[in-house]
Amino acid sequence: MTLEWIIRMWGVRGSMPAVSGDFLEYGGNTACVSVDCGTDLVVFDAGSGLSVLGRSLTPDRPVHIFISHVHIDHLIGLFIFQPFYDPGAEIHLYGEARNGVSFRQQLETLVGPPYWPVGLHDFSAKIMIHETGPDQTIPLPNGRTVRTMRGNHPNLGLLHRLDSAERSVVYTLDCELTPELRPQLVEFCRNADILVWDANFINQDLAQHSGWGHSSWEQGVEIRRDAGVKQILMTHYNQNYTDAFLREQERLAQEAGVCFARESMEVRL
Ligand SMILES: [Zn+2]
Ligand SMILES: [Zn+2]
Repeated sequence: MTLEWIIRMWGVRGSMPAVSGDFLEYGGNTACVSVDCGTDLVVFDAGSGLSVLGRSLTPDRPVHIFISHVHIDHLIGLFIFQPFYDPGAEIHLYGEARNGVSFRQQLETLVGPPYWPVGLHDFSAKIMIHETGPDQTIPLPNGRTVRTMRGNHPNLGLLHRLDSAERSVVYTLDCELTPELRPQLVEFCRNADILVWDANFINQDLAQHSGWGHSSWEQGVEIRRDAGVKQILMTHYNQNYTDAFLREQERLAQEAGVCFARESMEVRL
C-alpha cells in the first residue's frame, strides 16, 4: 500500500479571479489543483490559486506542475509563487510548444519584463522546464505516470491523467466536448477515482458559447457515468456564477452525487 493522496482545490474559478463578496463561499481564485502524493506534489495548472498553495509549501519535496494551456487564468499564479524564491526548492514545469514557440519561451515571455519585474532566470529555486504534448506518458517517481490527451480548446490544450498502481486522478480543464472527442475522453477517464471537471457553464449557457472551449457540469455527469468514474469534482466556474447560483446548481445536481468544489477543499484517496 502506497502513501495516501490528498487532492486540494486551490482555485475553482475560470477566466478571471472573482474577489467580491458574492464569490467567497465557492472561491474566486483561478485554476489550480494539487495532488499530494507524499514524496512529492503534483499540481495541475498555475492559476491564481497557485500563489495560495505556494504559501503553504516547504521546499522539502519536488513539485511537478502540469500546465493544461497558457491562457492567463491558468498561469497567473506563477508571478507570485513563493517557492520560486527558495534556493532549496525543486520545481518542474510541464507544458507544450505551440506555433513553433517552445514552452520555455512562452513562459519566459510572460514571466519577465515588461509584464513582470523579474523573470524565471532571476528566481533562486531549481526550475526545470519540460516540453510535453498529447498522447504522452510522463514518468514520475515511485512508478506513477501522467498521461496526456489533446483537449478541444482555443490555442491548444492538454488533458491530464495521474496514475499509480492503486489510484488515479483525471484533470480535464479546459475542454469543449464534441461527438468525435467524447468516446476518446470516456476511455481517458475510464475507472478513474476522481475526475476534476471543467464546469465553466451550465447546459443552458453552453449553447450560446459554442467554440469557447468549455463544458458543463451536466456533461461531466454523463462522462462520469459512461467512464465508470468513482467521484467527480466540478470546478472552473464561470466568473459570473455567484455563490447563490452555484448553490442552486449543486442542489439540482445532488441526485447525481456530484460535488461542486469549494476553494481549499480536500479529498483523501
Ligand atoms: Zn480556463
Ligand atoms: Zn483557456
